[in-house]
Amino acid sequence: MTKIYDPDLIYVECGKCGQPILWGPGQTKKILDAAEIADEEVDEHCAIISDGCPSCKPGETSFSTQIVRMNDEQEDSMPKGAEAH
Ligand SMILES: [Zn+2]
Repeated sequence: MTKIYDPDLIYVECGKCGQPILWGPGQTKKILDAAEIADEEVDEHCAIISDGCPSCKPGETSFSTQIVRMNDEQEDSMPKGAEAH
């Protein structure tokens, strides 16, 4: 049984100003297509980080994006790169 996660539900955040980005329906799917990421590879643990957004880069219409995966206590989620105390 294959459950497809709706790409429109993926959280998108601007990596520059940290604002959540809301864009039109279907836009996330286009980004996934452009990044050659299949629908089956994304789920609620994924987020998209954009290299800018219309509020911090007015006039820009396209931004490079990257998909990040957040592991929720699955596998061994040892924090890496944490600061030493
Ligand atoms: Zn921004």
